[in-house]
Amino acid sequence: MAITPLMPVYPRCGVRPVRGEGCYLIGEQGERYLDFAAGIAVNALGHGHPHLTQAIAEQAATLMHVSNLYGSPQGEALAQRIVDNSFADTVFFTNSGVEAIECAIKTARRYHFANGNPERHKLITFRNAFHGRSLGAISATDQAKMRDGFEPLLPGFDYAPFNDLDAALALIDDETAGFLVETVQGEGGMTAGTPEFIRGLRKACDDHGLLLILDEIQCGYGRTGKMWAYEHYGITPDILTSAKGIGGGFPLGACLATEEAAKGMVVGTHGSTYGGNPLGMAAGQAILDVMLADGFLDHVTRMGERLRAAFEQLIPNHDHLFEEIRGKGLMLGIKMKEPAVAREFVAHLRDNHGLLTVAAGENVFRVLPPLIIEDAHVADCIERLSAGARTFVPASDD
Ligand SMILES: *Cc1c(COP(=O)(O)O)cnc(C)c1O
Repeated sequence: MAITPLMPVYPRCGVRPVRGEGCYLIGEQGERYLDFAAGIAVNALGHGHPHLTQAIAEQAATLMHVSNLYGSPQGEALAQRIVDNSFADTVFFTNSGVEAIECAIKTARRYHFANGNPERHKLITFRNAFHGRSLGAISATDQAKMRDGFEPLLPGFDYAPFNDLDAALALIDDETAGFLVETVQGEGGMTAGTPEFIRGLRKACDDHGLLLILDEIQCGYGRTGKMWAYEHYGITPDILTSAKGIGGGFPLGACLATEEAAKGMVVGTHGSTYGGNPLGMAAGQAILDVMLADGFLDHVTRMGERLRAAFEQLIPNHDHLFEEIRGKGLMLGIKMKEPAVAREFVAHLRDNHGLLTVAAGENVFRVLPPLIIEDAHVADCIERLSAGARTFVPASDD
């Protein structure tokens, strides 16, 4: 029983994609899938988007990588554009979401260090959170499936139930640096932060000199119909992590911060060999060209409303199966009624109805289509989903 050359850490399914066309994926045998997983909220422009692929091809031929030893006209330009379209004053580019989280944790610790309060190093995080798989990020969640066997983890994290403001406030002490929270929880079950919760955390930060770090790796970058999910709440964070949709499939992430919050991040405090290289910056620019164009985010909002309305119509016809709809915009989740069947239902939709979705925590399956979907894709999804709901027999019922 030899280990596979590809380290076997993923429970990979039978779909083996070799090509993508817009909102569809094509497998090795030519089978077609409607891709409402979008690489887990990454392929914001679907597959093979001409503007993105052309930008990457041209930049690859011009200049791919030089390291951060040199000046970066490409990085300056993309950072400026993100600053112009967010709360932030400064941006650190990474190659993934979890690296943005690492940068955020370091930025928060350095802020209090720079203020002469190095004891304020602890972040209050939330149950069911998902911030990635580095040792720092698994220390920032209470989920045993990610932490077991990797102890000792990074000290300095406390955990409160998500959407429980009082519990979060009760954890504040002299060593607290701030809060790290997903504005809309993704992997944990597609639960949006309530306005009282998110605004309450902001207020606590203002009252106690703490930093609000929002993890918008999944829910940011147009996914909820706004550029940033925090815009739904009428607040701004001090630090924010971005990734997934920011590169549309090119590995790119970013840690955004206000000038005040980033005051400790001086020369030599952080770095990355690839982070912000010209190729990644070209991908990031191409995504923003499309996303910031007039009407794009309105389109996401409209498609999100249509998809949600269609789900709402579907639920009464299958009320033994579906319990509720969660999420915002095109970051939607459906909670299933029968315990622990979401994963099985995702497999059923995939294998028998050619519809790709993603399982999440709390018995929810995630629907994360490319942001460029049209009415025809919504209709195609609903057709496959209703057929799937009619034919689904949970294993436990056999
Ligand atoms: C995906 C995700 C991450 C981790 O991103 P990676 O690119 O896999 O490192 C962190 N936080 C949230 C909310 C995510 O959805």
